[in-house]
Amino acid sequence: MTAAQTHQSTDRSAALFARAGGVIPGGVNSPVRAFSAVGGTPRFMASATGCRLTDADGNTYIDLISSWGPMILGHAHPEVVAAVQRAASTGLSFGAPTEAEIELAEEIIGRVAPVQRIRLVNSGTEATMSAVRLARGFTGRSKIIKFAGCYHGHVDALLADAGSGVATLGLPTSPGVTGAQAADTLVLPYNDLAAVTAAFAEYPDQIACVITEAAAGNMGAVAPQPGFNQGLKDLTAAHGALLIIDEVMTGFRVSRSGWFGVDGVAGDLYTFGKVMSGGLPAAAFGGRADVMSYLAPIGPVYQAGTLSGNPVAVAAGLTTLRLADDAVYAALDANARRLGDLITEALTAAGVGHRVQYAANMVSVFFTSDPDTPITDYTAVKASQTWRFAPFFHALLERGVYPPPSAFEAWFVSAALDEDAFDQIAQAMPHAARAAAAASAPAGSV
Ligand SMILES: *Cc1c(COP(=O)(O)O)cnc(C)c1O
Repeated sequence: MTAAQTHQSTDRSAALFARAGGVIPGGVNSPVRAFSAVGGTPRFMASATGCRLTDADGNTYIDLISSWGPMILGHAHPEVVAAVQRAASTGLSFGAPTEAEIELAEEIIGRVAPVQRIRLVNSGTEATMSAVRLARGFTGRSKIIKFAGCYHGHVDALLADAGSGVATLGLPTSPGVTGAQAADTLVLPYNDLAAVTAAFAEYPDQIACVITEAAAGNMGAVAPQPGFNQGLKDLTAAHGALLIIDEVMTGFRVSRSGWFGVDGVAGDLYTFGKVMSGGLPAAAFGGRADVMSYLAPIGPVYQAGTLSGNPVAVAAGLTTLRLADDAVYAALDANARRLGDLITEALTAAGVGHRVQYAANMVSVFFTSDPDTPITDYTAVKASQTWRFAPFFHALLERGVYPPPSAFEAWFVSAALDEDAFDQIAQAMPHAARAAAAASAPAGSV
């Protein structure tokens, strides 16, 4: 397929989507995959290698999602695949400890200095759920603070005003989350330290923790303002609360030490997932040894998992981290800038007001008539011209470039993007920019 191609067949994907809808709600196992926000036929994938995806109809795409983060080395990296095959051939699961789990724990602790102890789980959701439980158990307090537009997985208490798919679908929270589960969650505007100060004043000795994305990436890329994370650190420390820094997205992507390697602010607890999984189900939470010692079996806070530390997932994660050296991080940074520059160049040429924002090497584009004003919170994100996104997205997809199917998601580059990939992106982008320019606002929008 060439960059000029705009006549993909999607018959097979369409048939699979229809069939899937008969057995899986909405035809997908995670909502954003259904293309609800952009319309059209979700592409069912058949295979992937390097920076390229191949769908069920045989169309290929330059992958700018990287499985929502994990695939920093590109798909089917030969050494990762070999490690997974080796692990699989010696046993899929034991329900007993293994040496490789120690190695993965040591690798993470070696990269992120504030993490002294770590426990492996199976998803980012499980990591944040467990970290919040531990923070409550350790402090003996109930309330938690989260920020609007931050997504921490689909934990009941953390779904209020969440980013990612919750934002894409425009849900304030979710039915099924009871008042009791949400009552102890205070939702504050991102990047607003005054609001956090006020909350601690209003609820003295009641707040167990503040949980924040190390840099918000689930409402698009919205980096913390200078001093925001440090301010959270100072406020939590002053009030006897814990700071949980959610690095599920940023961890081992934005630097070898994640966002901690960018701003050096030490959280009390951390959550990880995505990159450290190598693409298999694995995640982790960790932090201060005194806090982590509250976990069973040495402490009273219960947490467990039949498949936690699964040997095949650990092999994928450990091999990915060991291969993620300085050259990989340099490539990720360079590729993110190059992608952002191509987006800006095309949109500027087409006269479309926009901001390309970065949180280190996570990228997103916001359409806005006020491009000089940084977008720093969820209110500003929602006020952007999201109606320009669907035509922009489809023009790229039709030309074999696969960005996230939502204006509320960051774009994730891999180190495997090559010159041909960037040529194809460069050729597709002006078409997408013209489609964004031609989009018309729905009645009543800005
Ligand atoms: C993806 C993500 C999660 C949830 O991880 P899952 O593995 O999808 O459950 C939590 N926090 C952040 C910041 C994320 O980006």
